[in-house]
Amino acid sequence: MDYLEGLNKEQRAAVEQIQGPVMIIAGAGSGKTRVITYRVAHLIRKGVDSFNILVLTFTNKAAREMRERINKVVGNEAKNIWMGTFHSVFAKILRVEADKIGYPNNFTIYDTDDSKSVIRAILKELNLDDKLYNQNFVLNRISAAKNNLVSWQAYQQNEQIQAEDFTSGRGQMGKIYETYASRCFRAGAMDFDDLLFKTNELLRDHPEVLNKYQHKFKYLMVDEYQDTNFSQYLIVKKLAAVNENLCVVGDDAQSIYAFRGANIQNILNFEKDYPDLKIFKLEQNYRSTQNIVSVANSIISNNKEQLKKNVFSEKETGDKIKVIRAFSDNEEGKIISEEIMQQRTTNGLKWNDFAILYRTNAQSRSMEEGLRKLNIPYKIYGGLSFYQRKEIKDLVAYFRLTFNPNDEEALKRVINYPRRGIGDTTIDRIILSAGQNNITPFEVIMNPAKFLDGRSSASVGIFATMIQSFQVVTKTMTAYDAALHIAQHSGLLKDLYEDKSVEGLNRYENIQELLNGVKEFSEREDIEEKGLDVFMQDIALLTNDDKDKNKDADTVSLMTIHSSKGLEFPRVHVVGLEENLFPSQMSLNSRSDLEEERRLFYVAVTRAEHKLTISYATSRFKFGTLINCEPSRFLDEIDARYLELDFTAKPAPSAGSGSFFDDERNAWTRKSNTSSSGDSFSKPKAATAPPVKTTSVLAKAHVPSPNFKPSDTSNLQVGMEVEHERFGFGKVISLEGNKPDIKATIFFKEIGQKQLLLKFAKLFII
Ligand code: ATP
Ligand code: MG
Repeated sequence: MDYLEGLNKEQRAAVEQIQGPVMIIAGAGSGKTRVITYRVAHLIRKGVDSFNILVLTFTNKAAREMRERINKVVGNEAKNIWMGTFHSVFAKILRVEADKIGYPNNFTIYDTDDSKSVIRAILKELNLDDKLYNQNFVLNRISAAKNNLVSWQAYQQNEQIQAEDFTSGRGQMGKIYETYASRCFRAGAMDFDDLLFKTNELLRDHPEVLNKYQHKFKYLMVDEYQDTNFSQYLIVKKLAAVNENLCVVGDDAQSIYAFRGANIQNILNFEKDYPDLKIFKLEQNYRSTQNIVSVANSIISNNKEQLKKNVFSEKETGDKIKVIRAFSDNEEGKIISEEIMQQRTTNGLKWNDFAILYRTNAQSRSMEEGLRKLNIPYKIYGGLSFYQRKEIKDLVAYFRLTFNPNDEEALKRVINYPRRGIGDTTIDRIILSAGQNNITPFEVIMNPAKFLDGRSSASVGIFATMIQSFQVVTKTMTAYDAALHIAQHSGLLKDLYEDKSVEGLNRYENIQELLNGVKEFSEREDIEEKGLDVFMQDIALLTNDDKDKNKDADTVSLMTIHSSKGLEFPRVHVVGLEENLFPSQMSLNSRSDLEEERRLFYVAVTRAEHKLTISYATSRFKFGTLINCEPSRFLDEIDARYLELDFTAKPAPSAGSGSFFDDERNAWTRKSNTSSSGDSFSKPKAATAPPVKTTSVLAKAHVPSPNFKPSDTSNLQVGMEVEHERFGFGKVISLEGNKPDIKATIFFKEIGQKQLLLKFAKLFII
C-alpha cells in the first residue's frame, strides 16, 4: 500500500485504526489533517462505500483541498464523500428534512445583517432602548444560547440566565429571543446558529431521521475538534452513536473560538463518552524549522491551562525569528513589503510563498498600501465576501423572495429598491398588519386593498404581481435566463447601469459577475438539478475564497490569524505585536481571555514553514488619532535566543507628536523620548527572564478638565457620558457583572473601546 508510506509509525497506526472511537490531540503541523485525509482514502481502499463517510472540516477550502488529495489516491470515488463545514453539511441535510420540523424545505438562510435587521425591528416594536439592548450584544446572547442548545422557552425558565439579564438591566432579553425565533420561523428563515440548533432538534424529535443518518454515516471524522461548540459536539455524538466509528483530531493549544462558544471541554468529554477510545500521539512537526517550533513551544508554555505535549522538528534549525520595529503602522506596511520584495528576489521565491497575518481586519489597510506602492500582487482572504456586497445582496434578495415569499428581510430589502414609491410607513404598516392578522407580509401585499390605503396599495400590488411573475419564470426558464429576467424586470440592472460613477460601474460589473456564475452553473454537466433555486441554496454559506476564480494566481496572502487556522506558508509575517492590539484590549481583564490570545499567537507562528518575521509599530492610527503603542507582552515571553532584532528603522518625521503617559515612569513624557523609555522591548530579556510583564495602555495625553473629580459610579448607566483621568472623554456602551465587580465598556473618543472595573476606575460623570 504505497500511499501509507507517506506516514510515520504513529500516523499510520491512527490511519489503520478504522473501527471504533479514535482521538488525536497533537501540536500544530504534526500531520493531524494529513491523518484524516489518508484515513478516508484508506477506508475507501478497504472497501468502505464512499457514500458512508462524513468529514467535518473548519472551512470549505479545507474540505476542497482534502477532496483533491483523496481523489489522487482513490479517483472519482472522492466525489461521493460528504465533506464540508458543519454549517454547509447540515444545511444540506435540512434542505431535505426541514418540513419535519415545520420549516419549508426552501428555507432562507439569514446572514448576520438579516439577523440584525430583525433585532432592530423587534427593539422598535417592544420600545426598548437600542443602546442598552445593543444589537450585537443581543445577537451574541441569542447565539450563545443556541450554541448551548438553550431554546427561548428554556431561556425564559432558567433562573441563572434570568438573574443575569435582570442584573444587567436587560430583563426583556427572554422576550426578544422569543420574538426573534418566531419572526424567523414566520419568515421561513434560519440564521447560522439555527442550522446546528435545528439539526439538533430534528435529530432529537425524529428518531427515524436520526436512524437514517446514523446508518448513512458509518464513518465520521472531525478536524479542528478543539473549536467545536456544544451544539456541534452533540450532533456528532448522536450521529456516531450506533457505529461509534468516530475519529476526531485537534489541538487544545489552538483553541481560538471560545468567544463564539467553542468548548475545550469537548476534548475532555470525549474520553468520558467513549471508554474504549484509542488515543494516538503525534509529536513530530513536519511543517516548520526547529527555531520556529521552539518559539511556538516557548510561547504556549506561558499558558497555565494546556495539555502537555512534546513537539519537535527534524527539519533544519533555520533562521532566527526576525523582530522588526517600525515607528508607525504605515511604516510597518512599507518595511514588510520591502522585506517580502527582497526575500523573493534573493531566494527566487514566488509571491505565493508569503503570508501576512494580523489580529484585526483593519490592519490590512497599511499592509495593502505598502504592497501597492511596490506593485506586489496580493489577495485578502476572508474579507467582505462577494455575496455580502450590497448590489449582490439586492439581487439575491429578489431571488430569495421568488422562492420563499415569506422571507421578510428580503421583502423589506427590495420592496422599495429600485424606488417605486413605497415608503417606510407603508412597510411598517405591512409588517404590522401581518402581525395583527397572523399572516405573512407577503399575504398582506397580495391583498393590498384590504390592508393599505389607495395610493400605496397600488404600487404594493404591482410589486406583489411582479414577484409572482418571477415565480412563474423560474419554473420554465433555465437558471441563467431566469436570473437575467429578474435582474432586468426588477429594474435593478437599469438602476445600476444609470449610475456612471466608478463605484456604480463596479457594482454593475459585480452583478454581471453573479450572472456569469449562474450561467456557468446552469451549463454544468456533472449535476442534474440546475434550477436557480439549487444555485441559490446555501449561497449565504459561501465565503470570498469559494468565489475566487484566480485561486492559483501568484499573490501574497493577507488574512486574520483566525482565518489562517490549518494553513501553512513558507514565509510568514505576523504583524502588529502591540499591547491592546495583540493581545487585544478586550482580552486584558481575564486570564482565560488572555490565554486565548496567546493561543492565537501560537496559531500564527505555527503557520510558518521556513521563515518567520514578527513586527510591531510604536505608533498607530486608531479612530483617526495617532496613539503611541507599546510592544506586546508576547514578545517578552519568547526565549530571546531564538530572536534576531531589527531596529534599524528610524522614526519617520511625521510619526507622533505631543506627549504621552509613560506608565513605567508614571509621568507625562515628551514624544521624542519614546524609543528609549517607552520601548521595553529594545533590550531583549535573557532566556530566564520572568515571562509576564504587566503593561498598560499608553494613551495619548489627556489633560483632565479643571473640574475633574472622580465621582461615585454606583449609578452609572449605559449611554452616560464620562471623563476618565487618563483616557479622556467617552460614553458608556455596556455594563456587565454584579456589584462590586461591575465592568463597564466605555468608548473613549481618543483611544477607542476599553473595559474597566468600576471599583478602580477614576471616572467623572459629566
Ligand atoms: P495544524 O495543527 O496546523 O492544523 P496539522 O497537525 O493538521 O497542523 P498537517 O497540516 O496535516 O498538520 O501537516 C503539516 C505539514 O506536514 C503538511 O505539509 C503535511 O503534508 C506534512 N506532513 C505531515 N506528516 C508528514 C509525514 N509523515 N511525512 C511528510 N510530511 C508530512
Ligand atoms: Mg490541520
